[in-house]
Amino acid sequence: MIWFYQVTQGYFWIYTWLLISGFMIFMVMFYSSLIVPLFNKQTPLEQGELRDAIEAFSSQAGFQLDNVFVIDGSRRSTKANAYFAGLGAKKRIVLYDTLIKDLEVGELVAVLAHEIGHYKKKHARKGIAVALCQAGIMLFILSLFIANPLLSVALGAHIHSFHLALISFALLYSPLSTVMGLAMNSLSRRNEYEADRFAARHSSATALGSALKKLSVNNLSNLTPHPAYVFFNYSHPPLLQRLRAMATI
Ligand SMILES: [Zn+2]
Repeated sequence: MIWFYQVTQGYFWIYTWLLISGFMIFMVMFYSSLIVPLFNKQTPLEQGELRDAIEAFSSQAGFQLDNVFVIDGSRRSTKANAYFAGLGAKKRIVLYDTLIKDLEVGELVAVLAHEIGHYKKKHARKGIAVALCQAGIMLFILSLFIANPLLSVALGAHIHSFHLALISFALLYSPLSTVMGLAMNSLSRRNEYEADRFAARHSSATALGSALKKLSVNNLSNLTPHPAYVFFNYSHPPLLQRLRAMATI
């Protein structure tokens, strides 16, 4: 970034944004195939009851699914999870071995249906778009800070300094970043409800409900977090709210 600033002055934030955007998109596309293998082993899900059930579900939900992988999450943690990685043809569903150990086939399909719900509702793409915008806004505001010599003076310098402006930005940006974080969390919670609804409609609300209960036991989730705490910190709605929402479908 400093190099961009030295070369292009006021336009540095645009070049930095392009670079960061390229990096973010690269990471989203290749995280699962390049980074994860450094720490964990992913193997294609073997033939059997689970694979049959998953394939039956995805063809019925109209979802082309070629890559289902199992990751040896149990190597480092008892936490269970499932996620979608990659975009387009690179997309894959990754199930933790801990998840497969803890859940019944029906529950696993319901969890998968939730993940497919995220995909069908384009949550990943929207999430990336929002993150790119967020980075752009942040860098633009940074450029305003960098352009303002008063901030260096306020921190005790006699002349304008890029580095001091950067520090003042770090100090003053945090309230704004908190507000943006709140918006991101609220969006993420909405997406969770939407994915739950998709799973309830195409798979089974009962199976997803029992899977979520098992997961929250494993993850030692707080069952009754304070609503204000949820508002500020939770990217997923608490279990009880999710079960209630699904009961109304
Ligand atoms: Zn989700």
